[in-house]
Amino acid sequence: MNSLELQNVQDDNSDPSLNSLCATIKPLAQQLAAVQKQADAMGLFANDRELLECSQCGLMEDVTHSGLLITCRESAIAQDTGLRFTKESDQTFRCPSCGALVTEPLAAELEKARKQLEMRK
Ligand SMILES: [Zn+2]
Repeated sequence: MNSLELQNVQDDNSDPSLNSLCATIKPLAQQLAAVQKQADAMGLFANDRELLECSQCGLMEDVTHSGLLITCRESAIAQDTGLRFTKESDQTFRCPSCGALVTEPLAAELEKARKQLEMRK
């Protein structure tokens, strides 16, 4: 590669090409967001959080073979009750059956670990 070619390569990395990269990615990102929204509307589980289980009444989430998010009881696993947990805040959900607040399992574990660490201080 001679110095003239090198100069050309460096020019390619300047702002105009970065702008065109952004212009290429932006519609893709918008498409992805639209697909996720669509999957959500269809009741498909996006795998973006832990499955929930209500400690009060035992209602639990499950994912079917086709990827559908359902809720069921321990006595009738994989039988959709038709109920859905509703999001209250970032990691908190409300049980549609008994109304209890349910924290996402992973978040609950982290919170427990954090409290244990604090008690040691
Ligand atoms: Zn419940």
